[in-house]
Amino acid sequence: MTGRDPIIVVRDLHVYFYTHAGIVRAVDGISFTVYRGETFCLVGETGCGKSVTAKALARIVPPPGKIVKGEIIFYPEPGKPIDVTKLGEKELERIRGRLIAYVFQDPSAALDPLYTVGYQLAETVKHHGIVKSFKEGFQLAAKLFRKVLMPDADERVKAYPHELSGGMKQRSVIAISLSTEPKLLIADEPTTALDVTVQAQVMDVLKRLKEEKNLTLILITHNMGLVAEMCDRVAVMYAGKIVEEAPVDELFKQPLHPYTKMLLQAVPDPSRRVERLESIPGSVPNPLNLPPGCRFHPRCPHALKRCREEEPPEVYVSPSHRVVCWLYAGGRRG
Ligand code: SF4
Repeated sequence: MTGRDPIIVVRDLHVYFYTHAGIVRAVDGISFTVYRGETFCLVGETGCGKSVTAKALARIVPPPGKIVKGEIIFYPEPGKPIDVTKLGEKELERIRGRLIAYVFQDPSAALDPLYTVGYQLAETVKHHGIVKSFKEGFQLAAKLFRKVLMPDADERVKAYPHELSGGMKQRSVIAISLSTEPKLLIADEPTTALDVTVQAQVMDVLKRLKEEKNLTLILITHNMGLVAEMCDRVAVMYAGKIVEEAPVDELFKQPLHPYTKMLLQAVPDPSRRVERLESIPGSVPNPLNLPPGCRFHPRCPHALKRCREEEPPEVYVSPSHRVVCWLYAGGRRG
Protein backbone atom coordinates (compact mmCIF):
# COMPACT_ATOMS: atom_id res chain seq x y z
CA MET A 1 0.00 0.00 0.00
CA THR A 2 1.28 3.45 -0.83
CA GLY A 3 0.81 5.81 2.06
CA ARG A 4 1.60 9.48 2.11
CA ASP A 5 4.03 9.02 4.93
CA PRO A 6 7.52 9.81 3.61
CA ILE A 7 10.37 7.45 4.40
CA ILE A 8 13.03 9.37 2.51
CA VAL A 9 13.06 12.93 1.23
CA VAL A 10 15.87 14.00 -1.10
CA ARG A 11 16.36 17.71 -1.66
CA ASP A 12 18.67 19.32 -4.20
CA LEU A 13 21.17 16.44 -4.07
CA HIS A 14 24.47 16.98 -5.86
CA VAL A 15 27.09 14.21 -6.09
CA TYR A 16 30.31 15.07 -7.90
CA PHE A 17 33.42 13.03 -8.69
CA TYR A 18 36.68 14.94 -8.55
CA THR A 19 38.84 13.27 -11.20
CA HIS A 20 42.11 14.21 -12.92
CA ALA A 21 40.13 14.94 -16.07
CA GLY A 22 37.79 17.33 -14.25
CA ILE A 23 34.62 17.38 -12.15
CA VAL A 24 32.06 14.74 -13.08
CA ARG A 25 28.61 16.03 -12.14
CA ALA A 26 27.04 12.58 -11.78
CA VAL A 27 24.00 13.80 -9.82
CA ASP A 28 23.29 17.45 -10.32
CA GLY A 29 20.49 18.81 -8.18
CA ILE A 30 17.74 16.23 -7.84
CA SER A 31 14.79 16.15 -5.43
CA PHE A 32 12.26 13.40 -4.79
CA THR A 33 10.28 11.78 -1.99
CA VAL A 34 9.70 8.07 -1.43
CA TYR A 35 6.69 7.06 0.65
CA ARG A 36 6.57 4.25 3.19
CA GLY A 37 5.51 0.93 1.70
CA GLU A 38 5.80 1.86 -1.96
CA THR A 39 8.14 0.74 -4.72
CA PHE A 40 9.83 3.72 -6.29
CA CYS A 41 11.87 3.27 -9.47
CA LEU A 42 14.76 5.31 -10.74
CA VAL A 43 15.04 4.60 -14.43
CA GLY A 44 17.31 5.74 -17.25
CA GLU A 45 20.15 4.61 -19.47
CA THR A 46 23.55 3.63 -18.07
CA GLY A 47 25.45 6.75 -17.05
CA CYS A 48 22.37 8.81 -16.09
CA GLY A 49 23.29 8.94 -12.40
CA LYS A 50 20.70 6.55 -10.97
CA SER A 51 23.18 4.18 -9.27
CA VAL A 52 25.16 7.10 -7.86
CA THR A 53 21.89 8.49 -6.45
CA ALA A 54 21.10 5.12 -4.85
CA LYS A 55 24.59 4.87 -3.36
CA ALA A 56 24.30 8.41 -2.00
CA LEU A 57 21.12 7.41 -0.11
CA ALA A 58 23.11 4.74 1.73
CA ARG A 59 26.23 6.97 1.87
CA ILE A 60 28.34 4.44 -0.04
CA VAL A 61 29.46 6.66 -2.91
CA PRO A 62 33.01 5.47 -3.68
CA PRO A 63 35.85 8.03 -3.78
CA PRO A 64 36.58 10.35 -5.54
CA GLY A 65 32.79 10.88 -5.40
CA LYS A 66 31.35 13.26 -2.83
CA ILE A 67 27.94 14.55 -1.81
CA VAL A 68 28.64 18.23 -2.32
CA LYS A 69 25.21 19.68 -1.65
CA GLY A 70 21.70 18.72 -0.62
CA GLU A 71 19.81 16.81 2.03
CA ILE A 72 18.77 13.18 2.38
CA ILE A 73 16.20 13.03 5.17
CA PHE A 74 15.45 9.47 6.27
CA TYR A 75 12.47 8.72 8.53
CA PRO A 76 13.01 5.29 10.15
CA GLU A 77 9.80 6.07 12.07
CA PRO A 78 7.17 8.63 11.07
CA GLY A 79 8.08 12.07 12.37
CA LYS A 80 11.67 11.10 13.33
CA PRO A 81 13.92 12.59 10.65
CA ILE A 82 17.63 11.86 10.27
CA ASP A 83 19.74 13.77 7.73
CA VAL A 84 21.88 10.97 6.29
CA THR A 85 24.33 13.50 4.78
CA LYS A 86 25.28 14.73 8.26
CA LEU A 87 25.88 11.39 9.97
CA GLY A 88 29.30 10.33 11.25
CA GLU A 89 30.71 6.85 10.49
CA LYS A 90 29.46 5.36 13.80
CA GLU A 91 25.89 6.56 13.35
CA LEU A 92 25.99 5.52 9.72
CA GLU A 93 26.94 2.01 10.68
CA ARG A 94 23.81 1.78 12.85
CA ILE A 95 21.65 2.70 9.87
CA ARG A 96 23.44 1.12 6.93
CA GLY A 97 22.70 -2.55 6.57
CA ARG A 98 20.30 -2.33 9.52
CA LEU A 99 17.59 0.15 8.56
CA ILE A 100 18.67 0.81 4.98
CA ALA A 101 19.80 -2.29 3.08
CA TYR A 102 21.40 -2.35 -0.36
CA VAL A 103 21.34 -5.12 -2.96
CA PHE A 104 24.11 -4.63 -5.51
CA GLN A 105 24.04 -5.46 -9.20
CA ASP A 106 26.85 -7.97 -8.87
CA PRO A 107 26.20 -10.40 -6.01
CA SER A 108 29.78 -11.74 -6.20
CA ALA A 109 31.13 -8.34 -5.21
CA ALA A 110 28.77 -8.18 -2.22
CA LEU A 111 29.79 -11.58 -0.79
CA ASP A 112 33.05 -12.41 0.95
CA PRO A 113 34.63 -15.38 -0.88
CA LEU A 114 36.33 -16.58 2.33
CA TYR A 115 33.17 -17.33 4.31
CA THR A 116 30.09 -19.46 3.73
CA VAL A 117 26.95 -17.52 2.86
CA GLY A 118 25.26 -18.82 6.04
CA TYR A 119 28.16 -17.51 8.13
CA GLN A 120 27.89 -14.11 6.42
CA LEU A 121 24.20 -13.86 7.28
CA ALA A 122 24.80 -15.10 10.85
CA GLU A 123 27.60 -12.56 11.27
CA THR A 124 25.36 -9.72 10.05
CA VAL A 125 22.49 -10.50 12.44
CA LYS A 126 24.86 -11.04 15.35
CA HIS A 127 26.65 -7.76 14.63
CA HIS A 128 23.34 -5.88 14.64
CA GLY A 129 22.19 -7.59 17.87
CA ILE A 130 19.29 -9.42 16.21
CA VAL A 131 20.49 -12.77 17.59
CA LYS A 132 22.76 -13.55 20.53
CA SER A 133 24.77 -16.45 19.10
CA PHE A 134 26.09 -17.76 15.78
CA LYS A 135 23.95 -20.87 16.29
CA GLU A 136 20.80 -18.73 16.27
CA GLY A 137 22.27 -16.80 13.33
CA PHE A 138 22.65 -20.00 11.31
CA GLN A 139 19.09 -21.04 12.18
CA LEU A 140 17.85 -17.68 10.95
CA ALA A 141 19.99 -18.08 7.81
CA ALA A 142 18.34 -21.40 6.95
CA LYS A 143 14.89 -19.87 7.55
CA LEU A 144 15.60 -16.84 5.36
CA PHE A 145 17.20 -18.95 2.64
CA ARG A 146 13.95 -20.92 2.48
CA LYS A 147 12.04 -17.63 2.23
CA VAL A 148 14.06 -16.54 -0.80
CA LEU A 149 13.31 -19.97 -2.31
CA MET A 150 16.93 -21.08 -2.30
CA PRO A 151 16.98 -24.66 -3.61
CA ASP A 152 18.07 -27.06 -0.86
CA ALA A 153 18.31 -24.15 1.61
CA ASP A 154 19.63 -26.09 4.63
CA GLU A 155 22.63 -27.32 2.62
CA ARG A 156 23.27 -24.05 0.74
CA VAL A 157 23.77 -22.23 4.04
CA LYS A 158 27.07 -24.10 4.29
CA ALA A 159 28.20 -23.19 0.78
CA TYR A 160 30.92 -20.72 -0.18
CA PRO A 161 29.97 -18.09 -2.77
CA HIS A 162 32.01 -19.80 -5.52
CA GLU A 163 29.91 -22.94 -5.05
CA LEU A 164 26.70 -21.09 -5.95
CA SER A 165 25.21 -20.01 -9.27
CA GLY A 166 24.59 -16.29 -9.98
CA GLY A 167 20.91 -16.62 -9.05
CA MET A 168 21.73 -18.41 -5.79
CA LYS A 169 24.29 -15.76 -4.90
CA GLN A 170 21.73 -13.01 -5.48
CA ARG A 171 19.18 -14.93 -3.35
CA SER A 172 21.83 -15.12 -0.60
CA VAL A 173 22.46 -11.38 -0.85
CA ILE A 174 18.72 -10.67 -0.65
CA ALA A 175 18.41 -12.97 2.40
CA ILE A 176 21.35 -11.19 4.08
CA SER A 177 19.88 -7.76 3.22
CA LEU A 178 16.51 -8.67 4.69
CA SER A 179 17.95 -10.41 7.75
CA THR A 180 18.11 -7.14 9.69
CA GLU A 181 14.47 -6.32 8.88
CA PRO A 182 15.37 -3.02 7.18
CA LYS A 183 12.79 -0.30 6.61
CA LEU A 184 14.15 0.59 3.20
CA LEU A 185 15.67 -1.73 0.61
CA ILE A 186 17.61 -0.25 -2.29
CA ALA A 187 17.99 -2.74 -5.14
CA ASP A 188 20.49 -1.51 -7.72
CA GLU A 189 19.89 -3.38 -11.01
CA PRO A 190 19.53 -6.57 -8.91
CA THR A 191 18.97 -8.89 -11.85
CA THR A 192 21.16 -7.42 -14.58
CA ALA A 193 23.90 -10.01 -14.06
CA LEU A 194 21.45 -12.95 -14.18
CA ASP A 195 19.91 -14.85 -17.06
CA VAL A 196 16.31 -14.09 -17.98
CA THR A 197 14.49 -16.95 -16.23
CA VAL A 198 16.47 -16.43 -13.02
CA GLN A 199 15.79 -12.67 -13.28
CA ALA A 200 12.06 -13.31 -13.15
CA GLN A 201 12.38 -15.67 -10.17
CA VAL A 202 14.54 -13.23 -8.19
CA MET A 203 12.14 -10.34 -8.89
CA ASP A 204 9.21 -12.52 -7.77
CA VAL A 205 11.02 -13.21 -4.50
CA LEU A 206 11.69 -9.50 -3.97
CA LYS A 207 8.09 -8.60 -4.74
CA ARG A 208 6.68 -11.21 -2.35
CA LEU A 209 9.05 -10.33 0.51
CA LYS A 210 8.35 -6.64 0.03
CA GLU A 211 4.62 -7.28 0.49
CA GLU A 212 5.12 -9.65 3.42
CA LYS A 213 7.37 -7.28 5.34
CA ASN A 214 5.74 -4.03 4.22
CA LEU A 215 9.14 -2.88 3.03
CA THR A 216 9.79 0.24 1.03
CA LEU A 217 11.72 -0.59 -2.12
CA ILE A 218 13.78 1.72 -4.30
CA LEU A 219 14.50 -0.11 -7.52
CA ILE A 220 17.21 1.10 -9.88
CA THR A 221 16.78 -0.24 -13.38
CA HIS A 222 17.03 0.50 -17.08
CA ASN A 223 14.37 -2.14 -17.79
CA MET A 224 10.96 -0.57 -18.47
CA GLY A 225 9.33 -4.02 -18.26
CA LEU A 226 10.46 -4.30 -14.64
CA VAL A 227 9.22 -0.78 -13.97
CA ALA A 228 5.75 -1.70 -15.25
CA GLU A 229 5.68 -4.87 -13.20
CA MET A 230 7.13 -3.68 -9.90
CA CYS A 231 6.73 0.03 -9.37
CA ASP A 232 4.18 2.43 -7.91
CA ARG A 233 5.97 5.60 -8.96
CA VAL A 234 8.84 6.30 -11.31
CA ALA A 235 11.46 8.99 -11.71
CA VAL A 236 13.23 9.14 -15.07
CA MET A 237 16.84 10.34 -14.87
CA TYR A 238 18.91 11.82 -17.65
CA ALA A 239 22.48 13.16 -17.34
CA GLY A 240 22.32 13.65 -13.59
CA LYS A 241 18.83 15.22 -13.48
CA ILE A 242 15.30 13.92 -12.95
CA VAL A 243 13.43 14.83 -16.13
CA GLU A 244 10.03 13.31 -15.31
CA GLU A 245 8.29 11.76 -12.32
CA ALA A 246 4.84 10.20 -12.22
CA PRO A 247 2.79 7.26 -10.93
CA VAL A 248 3.69 4.25 -13.06
CA ASP A 249 0.31 3.91 -14.86
CA GLU A 250 0.30 7.59 -15.76
CA LEU A 251 3.87 7.47 -17.03
CA PHE A 252 3.12 4.53 -19.31
CA LYS A 253 -0.23 5.92 -20.51
CA GLN A 254 0.89 9.47 -20.95
CA PRO A 255 4.64 9.97 -21.00
CA LEU A 256 5.45 13.65 -21.47
CA HIS A 257 9.19 14.14 -21.66
CA PRO A 258 10.63 13.30 -25.10
CA TYR A 259 13.27 11.11 -23.40
CA THR A 260 10.62 9.10 -21.51
CA LYS A 261 8.67 8.65 -24.74
CA MET A 262 11.77 7.39 -26.51
CA LEU A 263 12.64 5.02 -23.65
CA LEU A 264 9.16 3.53 -23.89
CA GLN A 265 9.30 3.27 -27.68
CA ALA A 266 12.57 1.36 -27.33
CA VAL A 267 10.81 -1.43 -25.35
CA PRO A 268 10.42 -4.34 -27.81
CA ASP A 269 6.84 -5.50 -28.37
CA PRO A 270 6.88 -9.31 -28.73
CA SER A 271 3.50 -9.25 -30.53
CA ARG A 272 4.88 -7.17 -33.42
CA ARG A 273 7.41 -8.36 -35.95
CA VAL A 274 9.75 -5.53 -36.90
CA GLU A 275 12.77 -5.21 -39.18
CA ARG A 276 14.76 -3.15 -36.71
CA LEU A 277 14.30 -2.58 -32.97
CA GLU A 278 13.79 1.04 -31.94
CA SER A 279 16.68 2.75 -30.19
CA ILE A 280 17.37 6.26 -28.96
CA PRO A 281 19.78 7.97 -31.34
CA GLY A 282 23.02 9.31 -29.89
CA SER A 283 24.27 8.63 -26.38
CA VAL A 284 24.19 10.04 -22.87
CA PRO A 285 26.51 13.09 -22.81
CA ASN A 286 29.92 12.95 -21.21
CA PRO A 287 29.35 14.29 -17.68
CA LEU A 288 32.65 16.18 -17.96
CA ASN A 289 31.26 18.10 -20.88
CA LEU A 290 27.51 18.52 -20.51
CA PRO A 291 25.62 20.39 -23.22
CA PRO A 292 24.22 23.81 -22.30
CA GLY A 293 20.49 24.36 -21.88
CA CYS A 294 18.52 21.13 -21.81
CA ARG A 295 20.99 18.25 -21.53
CA PHE A 296 18.82 16.14 -23.81
CA HIS A 297 18.75 18.66 -26.66
CA PRO A 298 21.38 16.97 -28.90
CA ARG A 299 19.13 13.86 -29.04
CA CYS A 300 15.73 15.49 -28.88
CA PRO A 301 13.57 15.61 -32.04
CA HIS A 302 11.61 18.58 -30.60
CA ALA A 303 14.57 20.76 -29.60
CA LEU A 304 13.94 24.49 -29.98
CA LYS A 305 16.50 27.31 -29.98
CA ARG A 306 15.66 28.01 -26.35
CA CYS A 307 16.40 24.35 -25.44
CA ARG A 308 20.01 24.83 -26.53
CA GLU A 309 20.47 27.95 -24.42
CA GLU A 310 18.43 27.79 -21.24
CA GLU A 311 17.79 25.02 -18.73
CA PRO A 312 14.13 24.00 -18.90
CA PRO A 313 11.92 24.63 -15.86
CA GLU A 314 10.17 21.97 -13.81
CA VAL A 315 6.45 21.91 -14.58
CA TYR A 316 3.79 20.11 -12.53
CA VAL A 317 1.10 18.93 -14.95
CA SER A 318 -0.78 17.37 -12.00
CA PRO A 319 0.06 17.16 -8.28
CA SER A 320 1.83 13.81 -8.86
CA HIS A 321 3.28 14.29 -12.35
CA ARG A 322 6.18 16.63 -13.07
CA VAL A 323 8.26 17.12 -16.17
CA VAL A 324 11.33 19.22 -16.94
CA CYS A 325 10.93 20.40 -20.52
CA TRP A 326 10.32 23.66 -22.39
CA LEU A 327 7.43 22.06 -24.30
CA TYR A 328 5.29 22.29 -21.16
CA ALA A 329 6.49 25.58 -19.78
CA GLY A 330 3.68 27.69 -21.16
CA GLY A 331 0.92 25.15 -20.47
CA ARG A 332 0.69 21.58 -21.57
CA ARG A 333 1.47 20.30 -25.09
CA GLY A 334 0.90 16.60 -25.82
FE1 SF4 B 1 13.58 18.42 -25.98
FE2 SF4 B 1 13.66 21.00 -25.44
FE3 SF4 B 1 12.17 19.42 -23.94
FE4 SF4 B 1 14.81 19.30 -23.81
S1 SF4 B 1 13.53 21.02 -23.23
S2 SF4 B 1 13.46 17.59 -23.93
S3 SF4 B 1 15.38 19.66 -25.93
S4 SF4 B 1 11.90 19.87 -26.12
